[in-house]
Amino acid sequence: MSRLTGFAVSHWADDPWARGSWSLIGRDGSPQDRLGLGAPIGTRLRIAGEATHPTRAGMTHGAYEQGTEAAVWALRQRHSRVAVVGAGMAGLAAARTLRSQGADVIIWEARDRPGGRTAPAEITDAAGTARDPDDRITFDLGANWLQQYDDNVLARLAEQLALRSVPTDFNEPLILNAPTDPAEEIEIELRARLDAAPEGASIADVLHEWLRAPGPWDPQAVRRFVDAEIVMDSGAPLEWLSARHGFEPGVGEGDRWIVGGYRLLVDHLADGLDIRLRHPVTRITVDAGGVTLAGDAGSLRADAVIVTVPLGVLAADGIAFEPPLPETHRAALSHLGTGRVEKVILRFGERFWPPHPAGYFRVHGPTGNSISEWLDATAADGVPTLVGLFAGPWLDDLWTGTDEEIATRAAAVFTQAVHTPPEPSR
Ligand SMILES: Cc1cc2nc3c(=O)[nH]c(=O)nc-3n(C[C@H](O)[C@H](O)[C@H](O)COP(=O)(O)OP(=O)(O)OC[C@H]3O[C@@H](n4cnc5c(N)ncnc54)[C@H](O)[C@@H]3O)c2cc1C
Repeated sequence: MSRLTGFAVSHWADDPWARGSWSLIGRDGSPQDRLGLGAPIGTRLRIAGEATHPTRAGMTHGAYEQGTEAAVWALRQRHSRVAVVGAGMAGLAAARTLRSQGADVIIWEARDRPGGRTAPAEITDAAGTARDPDDRITFDLGANWLQQYDDNVLARLAEQLALRSVPTDFNEPLILNAPTDPAEEIEIELRARLDAAPEGASIADVLHEWLRAPGPWDPQAVRRFVDAEIVMDSGAPLEWLSARHGFEPGVGEGDRWIVGGYRLLVDHLADGLDIRLRHPVTRITVDAGGVTLAGDAGSLRADAVIVTVPLGVLAADGIAFEPPLPETHRAALSHLGTGRVEKVILRFGERFWPPHPAGYFRVHGPTGNSISEWLDATAADGVPTLVGLFAGPWLDDLWTGTDEEIATRAAAVFTQAVHTPPEPSR
């Protein structure tokens, strides 16, 4: 393997202000839970954010749309002073919309930066010092792609700002250590089986039934498809994910990543807003005259509040609500959940992997449901750079120790796959 010259590692599962990567629908849930969570609570409180989008959850533009919708709701209620909790895409969208209509808006954000689960990566070089994030292209440790590109409000913003973006063809990854399977046929069959599953069934249930009597299907190919398309896109156990609703739309052909990172959008969106950083909210009280936010940094009174913290924070009771959230919202929180997808950015002295037109690689294994995918960012960065996404049960073993240890292990996974010839297709 070529020398590892720099790295950055994400820790979304342990991040107290994220508590997971993005929201998912568990076996007892449905998209109705997303709508339930986002339904206004009286006239002064509304939860927004990616988890509340019925069809575009888990994506930045879905979060943005929900923030905008919540702001329009607050304006219709004629609130002139609105508090927003969280400065991710939903919170920024809400605040900008409110401000554009003349409302007085203050955002309380727990972190020391806006952007939430879009997060610029600070690359630590092998000597252990943080590289100046401005001296090269910044990479994303959170959201990477503008998904559903043709119908994505943030993609239009990126175009308006003339940001450079690069397409990734997820349909044509170079699979490094496994044969190329007939993905389209498997997907059609799997979707038909998932759609026909009873409410309450999990993806594991459906898979188990299918592979008990696989007929003409190659069980290994089916498993690889599920790992690539469901485990990689959720980071959740298949026993928990809803068969009917857990395989949600998202990653696809034509998705583009922003050279320089989401930071370029976030900086634009945050510009001019009143964002109080390092202001975690621990309690929200709603009374007849308004709302009160409270936390270690003090308290804030407003006419209404839009809460855009991640699902994981709400589900862990990271904020106490007075009065408590209604039953519909609590039920939604118990039916939805979050998975774990982590990222690593690796820089090398030399490129030791083959060039591939899609700029995207996939590595299966070593154990079932363990999967990693790799974006080759070398052309944009000018330095051999890989952005790796990891999901599946092996994260428990891989993501331990120091970031350098994690990065070294991740690099070994990729290197080994590059040097393992794939078995021939059946
Ligand atoms: C590894 C990874 C890869 C991803 N890849 C993509 C991708 O390629 N494309 C895509 O579209 N999406 C992707 N996503 C998902 C995307 O990042 C999220 O859907 C989106 O950013 C969520 O925005 P949000 O505003 O709903 O939540 P967040 O961005 O999480 O914003 C919520 C904010 O609330 C703050 N907060 C939390 N608790 C408190 C509190 N108590 N008080 C005050 N503030 C608080 C948080 O710090 C955060 O800033 C990815 C996510 C991850 C983790």
